[in-house]
Amino acid sequence: MKPSPFEYHAPADLDEALDVLARVGPDGGKVLAGGQSLIPLLNMRLAAPAHLVDVNRVAGLDTVEAGPGGVRVGALARHAAVERSLPAAAVQPLLGQALRLVAHPVIRNRGTVVGSLVHADPSAELPAVLALLGGSVRLAHRGGERDVAAAEFFTGPMESDTAPGELAVSAFFPALPPRSGTAFHEVARRHGDYAMAGVAAAVTLDEDLRVTAARVACVSVGPVPMVVDVTAACGGSPVAAGGTGPDWDAAAAAVRDRIEPEDDIHATADYRRHLTGVLAVRALRGAADGAAADGVAAARAAGEGER
Ligand SMILES: Cc1cc2nc3c(=O)[nH]c(=O)nc-3n(C[C@H](O)[C@H](O)[C@H](O)COP(=O)(O)OP(=O)(O)OC[C@H]3O[C@@H](n4cnc5c(N)ncnc54)[C@H](O)[C@@H]3O)c2cc1C
Repeated sequence: MKPSPFEYHAPADLDEALDVLARVGPDGGKVLAGGQSLIPLLNMRLAAPAHLVDVNRVAGLDTVEAGPGGVRVGALARHAAVERSLPAAAVQPLLGQALRLVAHPVIRNRGTVVGSLVHADPSAELPAVLALLGGSVRLAHRGGERDVAAAEFFTGPMESDTAPGELAVSAFFPALPPRSGTAFHEVARRHGDYAMAGVAAAVTLDEDLRVTAARVACVSVGPVPMVVDVTAACGGSPVAAGGTGPDWDAAAAAVRDRIEPEDDIHATADYRRHLTGVLAVRALRGAADGAAADGVAAARAAGEGER
């Protein structure tokens, strides 16, 4: 099918983009970024905006800035650019771990991280990453901007707190404390498909490699990414080789209790609940293993520094 008619706008800079959006946003205007979600929706006539504001010519939005506090990703930074960024991986490895699971390389060459957040598909990996890390999205409009925390940004399936006339200019993914590790595991019916279930995990340890914080964010099991703090189930336990030691089964049980999966043509709610528990154990163990390796490396570096 072909899209229904729309007026095409291609602003050359941010000011012009915000002017155009202020004019056409309330009148059914939509931002076009990588187009990997929007174009199929237009072609299937599931969306029929009167105006399309193509921001791909706007300079300065394709940045990936990694600092000690976290990684700020600009609106036109493609999945592939963030996935390949070594500074971003050093500060927040969960980004790369998640991006490897997003679609296929050709789609990652075009699709944007910020576009995926605004699109807010409950099966998408990046909203879960932002929610798990407690990140935020920066939205600009003519005359100002606002930062929205992940906990408020995802408001429902395919719904985010983005008002007509606003452009999401960047997203911020915070770093984790020292001796932290992350992992992302999912199961999809075919490689590159959206996941039937997926779990991102972050685990932080103390100097004795005991769990001080453990959280997961689950995809495809609720209307928005479901963040579950499982520290009560496994906190205080020492982590051994391979991320073993803590009672990850108890943590997974807490996750299964909190999620809200539904039946669909691909899987029953019960199957998704079971799968999420299995993936939670895998992701928590992987994250704990990474955190322990980080802790051992930090202790070794401190020891060498003293010699
Ligand atoms: C075959 C296929 C498989 C896929 N598999 C996965 C997958 O496994 N996991 C996954 O997460 N994604 C998957 N995707 C989606 C892909 O990741 C998209 O790139 C992403 O969801 C949207 O990014 P985009 O830049 O293409 O956004 P677009 O398609 O351009 O826009 C998507 C929506 O966000 C809005 N928008 C985009 N950018 C902004 C902005 N800066 N400010 C305000 N509004 C904005 C648009 O108006 C539109 O409503 C898949 C896509 C395809 C085609």
